[in-house]
Amino acid sequence: MERVSRRPKLPKNYKLIYDVLCAQAEGHHASASEIHGAAKQLQPGLGYSTVYRALDRLRDLGLVLEVRLPESASALYEPARPGHAHFHCVGCGRVDDVAFSLPEPELAALAKRHDIEIDTMVTTFNGLCQGCRGAAAS
Ligand SMILES: [Zn+2]
Ligand SMILES: [Zn+2]
Repeated sequence: MERVSRRPKLPKNYKLIYDVLCAQAEGHHASASEIHGAAKQLQPGLGYSTVYRALDRLRDLGLVLEVRLPESASALYEPARPGHAHFHCVGCGRVDDVAFSLPEPELAALAKRHDIEIDTMVTTFNGLCQGCRGAAAS
C-alpha cells in the first residue's frame, strides 16, 4: 500500500525498533518483548514503554504490521509488506504468512461503497496447520 513507501523522519529510538524488525527473518512475527530484547542489545537501557510507543507509532504510519490474535493478549509484529495475510493455527498457535491480496479494484469498490478510506489491511485466517491436522486425524 502507498503508505508504506512514504518514509517520514522517525525519532532515533523508533528508527531503532524499525531496524530491529527489518533485521529479523522474513515471515517471522515477533512479540513486543522479543523486540525489546533485541533492541536492548543495540541500546542498553531502552525501556519497554518506549518499545510499545514506537510500535504503536510505526503501526499508525503503516511501516509495521500488528497481528492480533483472538485468544492472545499480546500482538505480534513485522515490517509491513503488501500481498500477504496470516494463517493462525488454533491447534498450536503458530502464525504463518500466506500469499494473499485483494485486487485493487475490489478494494477501491469497497471503500467507495462504505465511503471510507482504507490505509492498511490485516487479514488473519484461522484453522489447523498441517501438523495439527495430522495429529487430529490419527
Ligand atoms: Zn498447528
Ligand atoms: Zn506476516
